[in-house]
Amino acid sequence: MIEKQTKSIFINGVWSEIDPEAKVAIYNPATMEKITEVAYGGKKETEKAIEAAKEAFKSWSRKTGRERSRVLYKAAHLLEEDAERIGRILTTEQGKPLAEAIGEVKGAAAFLLWYAEEASRAYGEWLPSSIPSKRMIVMPQAIGVVGAITPWNFPASMITRKVAPALAAGCTVVLKPAPETPLSAIEILKIFEAAGIPKGVINLVTGNAEEIGEALLTNKDVRMITFTGSTIVGKYLMKESADQVKKVALELGGHAPFIAFEDADLEKAISNVLASKFRNNGQTCICTNRLYVHESILKPFTELLMKKIQNLKLGNGFEEDIDLGPLINEQALEKVESHVQDALDKGARLATGGKRWEGELSGNFFEPTLLTGVEDQMKIMFEETFGPVIPIQSFTDEDEVIQKANDTDYGLAAFIFTENTSRSLRVAEQLEYGMIGVNDVFPATPEAPFGGIKQSGIGKEGGYYGMEDFMEKKFVSIGMDQE
Ligand code: NAP
Repeated sequence: MIEKQTKSIFINGVWSEIDPEAKVAIYNPATMEKITEVAYGGKKETEKAIEAAKEAFKSWSRKTGRERSRVLYKAAHLLEEDAERIGRILTTEQGKPLAEAIGEVKGAAAFLLWYAEEASRAYGEWLPSSIPSKRMIVMPQAIGVVGAITPWNFPASMITRKVAPALAAGCTVVLKPAPETPLSAIEILKIFEAAGIPKGVINLVTGNAEEIGEALLTNKDVRMITFTGSTIVGKYLMKESADQVKKVALELGGHAPFIAFEDADLEKAISNVLASKFRNNGQTCICTNRLYVHESILKPFTELLMKKIQNLKLGNGFEEDIDLGPLINEQALEKVESHVQDALDKGARLATGGKRWEGELSGNFFEPTLLTGVEDQMKIMFEETFGPVIPIQSFTDEDEVIQKANDTDYGLAAFIFTENTSRSLRVAEQLEYGMIGVNDVFPATPEAPFGGIKQSGIGKEGGYYGMEDFMEKKFVSIGMDQE
């Protein structure tokens, strides 16, 4: 049961009352019904949150890794236990099918668990000195107060994927979640509270993005900005961080190519295209945006894929057997429509789908769509669509498809389907992407580095790399008296 108003600003261990002059409504994207209202904070709240985080850093950063890990272990278990209830809240505000939402919350808990384990393993180094009278130590230390900004497409796991390693490293955090999905963020903060996190170690501010962003960017006590979202906002944050030489970690947009070679297992490749494209309704940074199929298998591949797409079921995420929920908002629908229209105007053909869904729900639904006869100059082949549309194109040989796959400013994830191991390694080596899935479209796990290259980002989340990003390497050089 969600209350009419939900407190959403948490600073120094206290939830603020909602100011009637500064609140905003949250809607269910499947039904367009109002769910609740949350606070609309800004500069003042962010500055208070930074102050609290700065104060809390003094003691949190000095705790042992083991002490920090106890809080993270507890939070991981509490979140895992509460996955179903929080999953329901996530579906209500974001729209994804309930099973996906519960899966995401469990995935979010898995990041907490991984970094609970990792917190005790921030090893430094002892360097052998070339000078007999010196000893040299490299000491990893928490970077300081971190400003964390997250998107709506994975409103739970995108938070723990950055907050868990930050806290494990000894940093303190001011979190700004996406305006569409603050409720999952609020639940995660309550989990940390229940796990006994000291006051000020993690703070939450919902509200005006420009004001919150500016307060984080201009305050010298914020030593790092970690951001997941669009490339355009990432570039802005990076430029503005330059003024104080703040560290930035950016997880940005993608435009993943999916390459099915002639020796691919057809059934396996097609079910993976469906999983990659339609999970979260195509609103996933690593989802397939372009499908390249070897010319010798194009016809059976297209026919089977079309049949399977036609069997997908749209609806409210709470209904049984739903494959796709709504898109997040009207702008998302308009973008998807414009990509389809642009392709059709330039000569593509509609194999299935292609328009807003005329179901009984008034939410933001778009039919799962397959486009054939697509050309490289169509927007969908180089801009991130973030919706349930697949453009399919044939290719002749390996060199040609590698060149096409790399011909983009994005470099997040790419997928190859082949039963030939030498080919998979040869192609993986040449693809300019941060993550390559070989017969696998889900390369995201807590133990592995997730992140892009080129304009898809800087830094890695996940694995021990994820925690390293939140630590400075301090060099201590010790001169010794000689006996
Ligand atoms: P977005 O528009 O860039 O927004 C992301 C977050 O940034 C939101 O909380 C947003 O708040 C905030 N923001 C926007 N302008 C800001 C500013 N000037 N200062 C501070 N914060 C600001 O992205 P989105 O539409 O939510 O998410 C979709 C994008 O995220 C896609 O491009 C997707 O590929 C990418 N993504 C990447 C990854 C990855 O791991 N690489 C994972 C998930 C998503 P407001 O909405 O209030 O402006």
